[in-house]
Amino acid sequence: MRQWYRDRAVEVFQRRLDLVVDCLSWTTTAPAWRMMEMQTQWGSCSPEGAVLLNPHLIKAPTRAIDYVLLHELCHLVEHNHSPRFCGLLDRFMPEWRSVKEKLDGESEVIIGV
Ligand SMILES: [Zn+2]
Repeated sequence: MRQWYRDRAVEVFQRRLDLVVDCLSWTTTAPAWRMMEMQTQWGSCSPEGAVLLNPHLIKAPTRAIDYVLLHELCHLVEHNHSPRFCGLLDRFMPEWRSVKEKLDGESEVIIGV
């Protein structure tokens, strides 16, 4: 992946992460995160709370970036995709299902570029 994208990703992900964290009640500081190129995932969150983000996500719309960040941040409190997890997403991004569907539908194009 080109360095230009990676530099931009670091800057934008950190800025959006800070903005999303500001809306949440369970954390006030952005978790430590790093980038990893992945073919099938936009991000992940380990049980210890380490967040990985796919640098290709930088090519997605801001709303989609925010969705992935919110998704991983919700895993800090719910380490699964339970109804409670979906309830958290509903609270902070009511339209997350359509954002996710669109993002996943475009993933081959975005990651393949
Ligand atoms: Zn997840």
